[in-house]
Amino acid sequence: MRALDRLDELYTIGGGTRRGYSPEEDAAHELAAGWMREAGLEVRVDEAGNLFGRRGDARVWVGSHLDSVPNGGKFDGALGVVAGIEAVARLRDAPLAVVAFRAEETGPMGSKRLAELPGAFVELHIEQGPVLERVGEPLGVVTAIAGQARGQVVFEGRADHAGTTPMTARADALVEAARFILHVRECAREPAVASVGAIEVEPNAANVVPSRVRVAVDARAPDAAGLDDLVRAIGFEPSWRLDPVAMSGRPFEVLGELLPEAPRLVSGAGHDAMVLAAAGVPTAMLFVRSLNGGVSHCPEELSSDEDIGLATDVLTEALARLAAVE
Ligand SMILES: [Zn+2]
Repeated sequence: MRALDRLDELYTIGGGTRRGYSPEEDAAHELAAGWMREAGLEVRVDEAGNLFGRRGDARVWVGSHLDSVPNGGKFDGALGVVAGIEAVARLRDAPLAVVAFRAEETGPMGSKRLAELPGAFVELHIEQGPVLERVGEPLGVVTAIAGQARGQVVFEGRADHAGTTPMTARADALVEAARFILHVRECAREPAVASVGAIEVEPNAANVVPSRVRVAVDARAPDAAGLDDLVRAIGFEPSWRLDPVAMSGRPFEVLGELLPEAPRLVSGAGHDAMVLAAAGVPTAMLFVRSLNGGVSHCPEELSSDEDIGLATDVLTEALARLAAVE
C-alpha cells in the first residue's frame, strides 16, 4: 500500500527526529506537499507553516502532524497525514482538505495558530497505549481527550549529618516526598492517571539528610469534574491546566456509525484534534492499535499494515459521509 511506503520515506528524514520548525520537518512537509499535488489537491501553506492540500471549498479537514519527538516512532502523526492524503485521493470529487500541522510535539504550535477553522475535523492517530492490543481490536473511537494539570510540590526538611543524626531527630524532606509520590499513585483511579515524573533533591549528597525536595506532578482525567477531584485529592496547586475536551458533532457520530462495536477510548495524550475541538470545531479521532505493548515516542512504536489498511478504509468512508453534508 502506498501509505506504508510513504511512512517509510518520511522516517528516513532525520532518522526519526523531526523537531517542529526544523529543516527535517520542512523536508517532511515538502514531501507531503508533493503527494498532495499528486492527489490533485491545491497546496497552500499558512502563516504558521501548516500545510494544506485542498480540493474545492473544503469545509471538512483531515490530518495530523509530521514533526516528531527526538528519536520518535514511524507512526505518531505521520500516519494521520499519509492516510488522510490516501483517503482524500480516493474520494476524487469530494471537497476535502488534508492538513499537516506544524510542531505538535512542542506545542501544539501550528494548530493553535490557524487563521481559519473547518466545519469538521477528523484525525487518525496511533493509539500510543496498550488498550486496543489488550482487547484484541484494531480500531478505537476516541470519546474525549483527557485534561491535564501540572504543578510542583516542595517538601522542606533539614540538612543533617547522615551518620550522626538519630533517626528520630531527622526532618527528611525526601522521605516526605516519597510518601507523597505513593499518595499520588493511590489518588488516580481509572480512567484518571497521575504521575510524579521529575524530582529534585537538595543538597543531593549521599551523606546528608535531604533538606529540600521538589517534585513535578502530572494529573490527567477525561472530564473537568474528574480532573478537579483528582487535583483536590492529590492536594497540589496546578501551575498549568488544560481542560478536557469531548469529541463531538457529526464527525464523532459518523465514526460511531461506522464502528458501532469498536472500543471507546479516552486519549491520555494531547493532539491537534484537542486544539480544534477546544476551538469549537466538531472533531473526531480514530485510533489504530499500537503493537509492542503500546510503546510510543520511540523507534519500537508499531502498527500493522493490516490495521492501517482497515483504518484508512474507515477514514475514507467517514470523510465521504462528512463531505456529503457539510
Ligand atoms: Zn501525535
